[in-house]
Amino acid sequence: MNLGRDIVATVAAADSPLGQVARAVDVLSSHLPTSRQPRACPFCLAAGWPCRPFLDAAEHITDHGVHVASLVPRDLHQVLWPANKSTTRAS
Ligand SMILES: [Zn+2]
Repeated sequence: MNLGRDIVATVAAADSPLGQVARAVDVLSSHLPTSRQPRACPFCLAAGWPCRPFLDAAEHITDHGVHVASLVPRDLHQVLWPANKSTTRAS
């Protein structure tokens, strides 16, 4: 996976809130733009960002009680949540 960003891998219990949304976290992370082009998804080239796959993953993650903001680089928070930088929902 080439995100244009450095990534880390971690281990979570499968039955933990994070473990239950692990696949969605992978999808969400793969649809993060680079800091140089914060409005362009690297996969959904024709669409602006946030793109539909990102938003669907974010909704799934939020529905399971995991904070999306903790999975998104800080430089993108202002793009997602311009009025409230600490919001946990992507909409
Ligand atoms: Zn995308």
